[in-house]
Amino acid sequence: SLTGKTALVTGSTSGIGLAYARALAGEGANVVINGFGDADAIEKERRELEALSGARALYSGHDLTKTEEIEAMMRDAAQAFGGVDILINNAGTQHVAPVEEFPVEKWDLIIALNLSSAFHTTRLAVPYMKERKWGRIIQTASAHSLVASPFKSAYVTAKHGLAGFTKTIALELATSGVTANCISPGYVWTPLVENQIPDTMKARGLTREQVMNDVLLAGQPTKQFVTAEQVAAMALFLCSDAAANVTGANLSVDGGWTAQ
Ligand code: NAD
Repeated sequence: SLTGKTALVTGSTSGIGLAYARALAGEGANVVINGFGDADAIEKERRELEALSGARALYSGHDLTKTEEIEAMMRDAAQAFGGVDILINNAGTQHVAPVEEFPVEKWDLIIALNLSSAFHTTRLAVPYMKERKWGRIIQTASAHSLVASPFKSAYVTAKHGLAGFTKTIALELATSGVTANCISPGYVWTPLVENQIPDTMKARGLTREQVMNDVLLAGQPTKQFVTAEQVAAMALFLCSDAAANVTGANLSVDGGWTAQ
């Protein structure tokens, strides 16, 4: 059980992040959720998270492309719970375009959100974890932290960077009771995937069905989307004492994609 622990999950108003928050709250952890969305829907979800175990859930809706807002989110967590024991860097976004047409502001956004935000949350979370001699840092990386696909230059760059960052901090923290690992999903059916279908249709000149079958599931040998709950189950394992010696790893949950 994770009773007495506090988990902060970035980008947890939707998709994989929400599945992590539900899984962690289900194990009794306090959770700090973050991300954008409709205020009433988020408040409803926050209450549902609290109902899962009786632990507390706090919403901190800061924009993680901005360093000072990340600092404010970490202060919210520290004020409410003393600090963060389990940090899941999950917020991320995608943009699909050929490199010579890639909008500069999209490049900057993806590097800030998918990569730099994990550096900032980590540097702010580590002192408390070290003091407690226990901590778990988990990144939602991606199959794209291990292999590339065309037209996703910013995303693939950010995710490869995140994988390198994670190995580095795993080494720095190796004797302190704090582990750091990547979970690398293949395609999970979430708004992030759904929203890239129109641009992928355009970039590759394909129909919606062709994108689903010939692009998304083509590389996934199981021919199934991974579920957000399956990704969250891996995170729960990493939070367990059984995973105390799993650090600096990049754990694929990708239906065999990167085995090819
Ligand atoms: P999603 O779009 O469902 O969720 C993204 C979350 O990030 C939302 O809560 C959103 O509000 C939040 N967010 C967006 N911009 C933000 C900002 N500036 N500041 C704070 N929060 C912000 O996407 P998802 O598919 O659940 O993706 C979650 C993570 O999983 C991402 O890092 C993504 O790269 C990764 N991933 C997804 C897949 C997939 O197939 N869906 C595969 C591999 C990796």
